[in-house]
Amino acid sequence: MLSFSSQLTEIKGIGPNIALKLAKLKLHTVKDVLYYFPFRYLDFSKISKIADLEDGQIATIYGKIDKVGIYKTFHKKMWIVEATISDETGKVKAVWFNQKFLINTLKEGKFANFAGKPILQGKHLTFQNPMFEMINDEFQEARHTGRLVPVYPQTEGVTSKMIRFVVSKILPDFLDSPEFLPENVVKEFDFPSLADSFAHIHYPDTIEQAQEAEKRFSFQDLFLLQLINASEREHLSKQDAYACDYTPEYIKELFSYVPFELTLAQKKALHEILEDIKKPHPTSRLLQGDVGSGKTIVATIASLVVANNGKQAILMAPTEVLARQHYETFKKYFEEFSNGIALLTSAQILSFHGDGLETETSKKELLSQIKSGKIKIIIGTHSIIQKNVSFKNAALVIIDEQHRFGVDQRAKLMHDNKFIPHLLSMSATPIPRTLALTAFGDLDLSLINELPKNRKPIITKAVTSTNRQKAYDFVSQQIKSGRQAFVICPRIEAPDPQAPLTPRQLFNLEVKSVKEETEKLSKKIFPNFKIASLHGRMKSADKQKIMADFKDKKYDILVSTSVIEVGIDIPNATVMLIEGSEHFGLSQLYQFRGRVGRGQHQSYCFLFSDINSKSTAIRMKALVNAKSGFELAEIDLKLRGPGQFLGQEQSGLPDLAMKAIQNPQLVQAARNSAYEIIKSDPELKNHPYLAAYVKMFREQVHLE
Ligand code: ADP
Ligand code: MG
Repeated sequence: MLSFSSQLTEIKGIGPNIALKLAKLKLHTVKDVLYYFPFRYLDFSKISKIADLEDGQIATIYGKIDKVGIYKTFHKKMWIVEATISDETGKVKAVWFNQKFLINTLKEGKFANFAGKPILQGKHLTFQNPMFEMINDEFQEARHTGRLVPVYPQTEGVTSKMIRFVVSKILPDFLDSPEFLPENVVKEFDFPSLADSFAHIHYPDTIEQAQEAEKRFSFQDLFLLQLINASEREHLSKQDAYACDYTPEYIKELFSYVPFELTLAQKKALHEILEDIKKPHPTSRLLQGDVGSGKTIVATIASLVVANNGKQAILMAPTEVLARQHYETFKKYFEEFSNGIALLTSAQILSFHGDGLETETSKKELLSQIKSGKIKIIIGTHSIIQKNVSFKNAALVIIDEQHRFGVDQRAKLMHDNKFIPHLLSMSATPIPRTLALTAFGDLDLSLINELPKNRKPIITKAVTSTNRQKAYDFVSQQIKSGRQAFVICPRIEAPDPQAPLTPRQLFNLEVKSVKEETEKLSKKIFPNFKIASLHGRMKSADKQKIMADFKDKKYDILVSTSVIEVGIDIPNATVMLIEGSEHFGLSQLYQFRGRVGRGQHQSYCFLFSDINSKSTAIRMKALVNAKSGFELAEIDLKLRGPGQFLGQEQSGLPDLAMKAIQNPQLVQAARNSAYEIIKSDPELKNHPYLAAYVKMFREQVHLE
């Protein structure tokens, strides 16, 4: 009897040679094969015999290609490919118009399926432009059995046939696999049992059966993911965290230092966060909000509450420029607060203590002040956690613009401290709710779904090459009236003209580079304006200086690569001009555009593109019409699937779960039942099969 963990070599008929080949597909154990699903099925169940074909009735036949010919029509206007196909009951003709190349595919003596509508021409039935599919020899037998035959993703040396053979050896031992999904869910969604699902996904009687099985397995992945999330939370809820309390009066006082009124959505998110940090057990939250929705001030106030409780808050940004910007926000509004606020990056070490003085200390001094608790708010880049900084009493960690901040990373911040900090993760990447619930199921969600009232929607235009000059004239006007502009380019340098070019490089030659573009703009287009450039290969201190100078209006135009992408706040900039916009994902374009429209002036986004393809046009249209990033995200989820929001790797989600995310009902059901089970049986002591499955799943998605 085989078990999930049996090695494939234990199966009779599978020697080391075949095992080695299967290993190329990462098939090592019996479980690997059971979960290696076909990507489609060849349907031999609905194949008609040639003798049974009727005039005008759509049908599929399977037969041998007896003869193939090609000729021109009488007026020599059109090529016609003609084939004669036979099975054991008769012969039929098929013709294709204007598809000369088919002569290379339709080989005499080979077998194929043909599907279409045969029409009576004279005495003979003829298929006109039928679809066809060449059938490998390996399916010869299958057609006699007249059923659905699984087709597996294959690789060199491993055919579908071979996998079918292995599956057929394994399946019989798993036809009484015990069910581990909760009974009520199986009933509610009418899922097939685990045993039936194995049988049906590999050898379905009908396509519907296979689909039902796939749906069950998708749910299974979602459910296991949620179960892991739920037990993670259950575990955390038994750990200690510093509880930081607040009074409405204190929050009002903090508000009074801010020159604007927080939006309702900001206040709601802030409230959710403040309720989190009040708890004596570590909490985890993801704060989502479009660029410019004002996440920083929410994080700032939460940090000040922590500091007011005598505890420490850590704010980590993805880049030094952004860390600096966050620090400036504190300074701008709360310089008189005497809790000790510090910026700690490799370029700069600054702090202030409410005495109106900002000091530049040595790193050593600063680290000792952090350790002693004299400094309560520490702002830096993500590298703070790697740098072995010791904290006195970290109560809150805020991560800006990094999706995955794992439990281990949070643990790293504690060192010998038994208290685990609360976690607040902030993201402007619009992630549809169902995806967020799955990929970040271990986090509570808060959403800032409105922009501050003073914002005007950004006018977005796709600019054709004929209108390029018009766009430049417009930029000129804007700058003359005191505004500033960004120009985004997809590459840093033009490729070396001496080196031989790959097709891809040839293509990239068209791509505007920052250096070339800066040169062109400053010499030819805008000789009277001051232009700076920025790219990822520059030293961080240089980048920072340029950003600071741009903010101080020392430049009119900033030409940049995508390093500008996250978080930079320059309210005076009103134009975002994107070169080669087809090279960027929708989400990324959306982020770029969010760099402007941050002040009281009307802002503009111009999308230049070297390629005028239809798909570019569709993408541009979606961006032009999008009212919020979240709306765009929901559209994108439907159009292109979840893959593009988070790379597969970043999400850590299995394929099937990714698919299932498009079904909010399944996601919610998976979540509810997972949390229910963990609540009543946190260690899964009463659910042994489920516990075993969770363990396997953790290994599979590398959670351990
Ligand atoms: P993001 O959510 O992208 O991080 P920021 O926190 O950087 O956005 O805020 C963008 C800009 O909007 C900042 O200049 C900030 O001062 C301003 N801002 C934030 N909230 C409000 C508000 N309620 N009213 C007006 N301006 C606001
Ligand atoms: Mg931000």
